[in-house]
Amino acid sequence: MLKKCTKCGNYTISDEKCPKCGGALKDPHPPKFSLNDPFLEIKLRAIILSKKKEKEAKL
Ligand SMILES: [Zn+2]
Repeated sequence: MLKKCTKCGNYTISDEKCPKCGGALKDPHPPKFSLNDPFLEIKLRAIILSKKKEKEAKL
């Protein structure tokens, strides 16, 4: 899985740290939702609302 360095922005397949600068790595495409996210319900509602508006705008 490709990771991105939080310090220099280097992409690497290393799991532990950046081979360039030794910085911490993170997933470049973090999942939008976590089951532990206290705001999950609020986010879902906001998305559902915006989807509704999209549909209404097309009609
Ligand atoms: Zn780095």
